[in-house]
Amino acid sequence: MPELPEVETIRRQLAPHLEGRELSEVEIRDYRWTLPAPPELIAAELTGATVRRLGRLGKYLIWELDRDRHLLVHLRMTGSLLLDPVEESAHTRARFALSDGHLLTYVDPRRFGTAHLMLSTAARDRYLQARLGAEPFTTEFTPQYLREQSRGRTAPVKSFLLDQRRIAGVGNIYADEALHRAGVHPLRQAGSLTLAQWSALKEAIEAALAAGIDAKGASIDDFRHVDGARGTFQDSFLVHTRAGDPCPTCGNVIRKLVVGGRGTYVCERCQPRPRARRPR
Ligand SMILES: [Zn+2]
Repeated sequence: MPELPEVETIRRQLAPHLEGRELSEVEIRDYRWTLPAPPELIAAELTGATVRRLGRLGKYLIWELDRDRHLLVHLRMTGSLLLDPVEESAHTRARFALSDGHLLTYVDPRRFGTAHLMLSTAARDRYLQARLGAEPFTTEFTPQYLREQSRGRTAPVKSFLLDQRRIAGVGNIYADEALHRAGVHPLRQAGSLTLAQWSALKEAIEAALAAGIDAKGASIDDFRHVDGARGTFQDSFLVHTRAGDPCPTCGNVIRKLVVGGRGTYVCERCQPRPRARRPR
């Protein structure tokens, strides 16, 4: 699933092609993409709209349109945005003809992706604020914020990192990578981390995300660039998907666990397992 670095990669690649362009023709082929709004209504509203700016918050790609309208696109599991695809995919869910002659298609085999049109900045901000916690790389994203949010929480820290209402944009890949960099075991109770550990984890989250952005995202699933190319961050994973390999930090064997239903990769020498509670 695309996470912050993958969506940011798409944003950077697409912005020069979309900003300042008009959506001259819009066709939405899958009613599920725009639910609960009917696709005809959204297509009519988008046709003739000019894209002012392409933004991002968490895993949302934000198309800022004229007349204070905002299209919030979430790729979920398998969504991708392809510019001038060589051949049309059977999984094309929407097509946008741009005023300069280019074609943008939204392709999504599993159809979990969504597009929501917000009719004012206030509506957009309300929608996003209800769903997203602090965004990494902003002044809001501090060790103190993380400690406050996790206070009293007994859920594993890995699950805490994946909760978009706490931290915007981190998913399964970057959570594993960040926990390894910070030397924190994914099964530690979120509320048990010290401020120093949150400080290390904050730095580690931003370092992992920055490395992902530099590598133009990770393609271990359907993630593709707007020209169909793959990201390269999967070649630089420290622990994620590396079960059985030696830890790049200490040489110990990397293990796979399941935490909160998600495949989780850990070096239990660098990331000591929390001690079991003493029997009463
Ligand atoms: Zn290690």
